[in-house]
Amino acid sequence: MRAFRKFWMVGLLTLAINGLVLAGTPEPVRRVVKFESAELSATSDFEGGRLSDFVAEGPNSYSALIAPEWRPMNNQQAWYAFRLQSPKPRVIEVKLTYTDGKKNLFYPKISRDRTHWQELPKGDFRLSSNSSTATLRLTVGPEPLWVSAQELFTQSDYASWIQKLTEHPYVTSGTIGFSTQQRPIFKMDITEAPADAPLVLVLGRQHPPEVTGGFGLVSFVETVTGDSQLARDFRSKFHILVIPLINPDGVNNGHWRYNVNGTDLNRDWGTFAEKETQAVRDEILRALAAAKNQVLFSIDYHSTTKDVYYPFPTVKSSEPDERLEAKDVLMRKWLERVRQLTPDHRVPIEVSPATRESKLNSVLWMRTFGAASITHEFNHDTDRQVIRQVAQADATALMELLLARNTTSNQPTQ
Ligand SMILES: [Zn+2]
Repeated sequence: MRAFRKFWMVGLLTLAINGLVLAGTPEPVRRVVKFESAELSATSDFEGGRLSDFVAEGPNSYSALIAPEWRPMNNQQAWYAFRLQSPKPRVIEVKLTYTDGKKNLFYPKISRDRTHWQELPKGDFRLSSNSSTATLRLTVGPEPLWVSAQELFTQSDYASWIQKLTEHPYVTSGTIGFSTQQRPIFKMDITEAPADAPLVLVLGRQHPPEVTGGFGLVSFVETVTGDSQLARDFRSKFHILVIPLINPDGVNNGHWRYNVNGTDLNRDWGTFAEKETQAVRDEILRALAAAKNQVLFSIDYHSTTKDVYYPFPTVKSSEPDERLEAKDVLMRKWLERVRQLTPDHRVPIEVSPATRESKLNSVLWMRTFGAASITHEFNHDTDRQVIRQVAQADATALMELLLARNTTSNQPTQ
């Protein structure tokens, strides 16, 4: 209780510093705003929406307060998303003001229909010298205008994407459990192989604002569910388990990092204290048992401020292949093949800063079962077509390598 009160005092102080008034709210940090005036309505009351306040500062100028979902917030992925509407067409300015010493990270995307997005024109965007505020010039009117840190790609978008994929006879979908706020956690099983076929695991959206990682996962999955001979051969030999949206509460609430309990889910793979990671763990263990404990590869899609692959450090070491475990040799081969397939977009391979932390993430946990295991991070700003191509290469390289390995292992040995 004391911690809660202290939390509130810090919150109120921060808001007071920003010169804006916070109305009473049942949530730790306010996320849903409904601003109504004769000239303009502004709201964050939709999946992925987030604002902490919205006030008029002049006839055509407004200020929007952007606060993290939880304090302290050690992450810089300052998410925002809101929708504007005006009875008459007008040009307005909205100043995004970041609390907690945070800065503008995401370049604003706008949409008139929530489906098609574009970047705000460069001339309509002004950043303050320390990036703690950003001013957006926006043309509003009777049609809604969505303004968002990234394209909105939330639970209902995943649901319709999955629905479409299940038109393929070799894709089945299901719910592996429920989040803290009782949202379903989806999975897809992609396979035409016998029930005990070796397993490949694909994970995504542990961290809510990491939309480009989400796009990478979509491209990977669409490649392995595609119509190529390679994909058909692959599905006839392997079982691909996809858990695309591990943190539906965080995504739908427009969080910067955590689930609704303030937990970073990708640091919860040792304790499994959260409902989301428990559901994922139990599903992976079920699939592992069916596969007679054969899990070959695991990829977890994320986003950060650069494009990068984070394999286990051994993969990056100078040790020769002969001294490495089979999973690390497979990972080296895979990274090499991905590079051959993407000659125009060379993605660095680095040791993840998370490796220095004591808490387990998905990569470390999946290694304990023998999987070649990696995090693939996309820059928040990477061209969406490039994301598509690189993640296609991820899938193609994996299918080639595992099929070649499968053929080799079936040959009689002397
Ligand atoms: Zn992440």
